Amino acid sequence: MTPARIRQLSSDDSLLSRLYHRWQGLPAGALVTVPIAQYKDYERFYATMVPEYQRRERYEQSLVGDGDSFTTTGDCHICGNHASFVTNFEYASGEVLHDKRVPNWRERVTCTRCGLCNRLRASVHFLERNLGCRRDSLIYITEQTTPLYQHLHKHYRHVIGSEYFGDRVPYGSNDPVTGLRNESVTKLTFADNSFDYLLSFDVFEHVPDYTTALRESLRVLKPGATLLFTVPFHKGYRETLLRARVRDDGSIEHLHEPEYHGDPVGAGAGCLCFHTFGWDLLDHLRNLGFASAEAQLFWSARHAYLGTEQLLLTARKAR
Ligand SMILES: [Zn+2]
Repeated sequence: MTPARIRQLSSDDSLLSRLYHRWQGLPAGALVTVPIAQYKDYERFYATMVPEYQRRERYEQSLVGDGDSFTTTGDCHICGNHASFVTNFEYASGEVLHDKRVPNWRERVTCTRCGLCNRLRASVHFLERNLGCRRDSLIYITEQTTPLYQHLHKHYRHVIGSEYFGDRVPYGSNDPVTGLRNESVTKLTFADNSFDYLLSFDVFEHVPDYTTALRESLRVLKPGATLLFTVPFHKGYRETLLRARVRDDGSIEHLHEPEYHGDPVGAGAGCLCFHTFGWDLLDHLRNLGFASAEAQLFWSARHAYLGTEQLLLTARKAR
């Protein structure tokens, strides 16, 4: 069997695939991922995966119901057992496949018990089983109002969360109204080498100067520590798409159709998305000084990590 064929067979979460990964040394219960560090490796991988992607799409579309939402079942890593997941068509692109609407799988498949969607359930799974996060690990997460923060706060002793209130609240202190900590990811108030894990989920795309945010992430991580994050990432993009930029006078120039995402502590239209990232993000992380940077590709029918193939991103600081 060719290495490409082995990779294809071991890219999902089937029993065969799990046995293969155990044999390769992946811890029990870990999220099965295909780690890919650069575009040319992804191109090679993609070429072997087309029939598998088609199989996954057919399976996923068979789950889609006719109503405004539908329920599927599977194992929730967070809740630790069989769970129900609700998917509706919020944030969907409008695409139709096999005569059914295609949901935004990444943002949906929400567990009815823990309230976490597909990509967040998988991120916690990866943190806890693949990265070996311990109860006493030092964790910083760039959110503080969410079910994900609540989960971490409940299960880990040293978790700091924050939201972004701009400079109306001093950085590093709590907003007097909400009690939430204010941090800017481009000017973190933490000392160098403070954390074992820095977690950030769909934040960096809203930061015009995300390079400074990545540099700050590297600074506050301990040697050997990991940045685990998600951003809108287009696997077909060799280079990051600049959607908008800030002019010298502070106004915003839109280079593409503006895209806004929900802001947990703001009001109005939401947060503008400045970037849709491509594979050069990983080169960029290594150039900034991270020892490694990878996209972890995954898909699992068992855990309902649906959507043909999802990814999360990891970057490790040198020891
Ligand atoms: Zn759950």
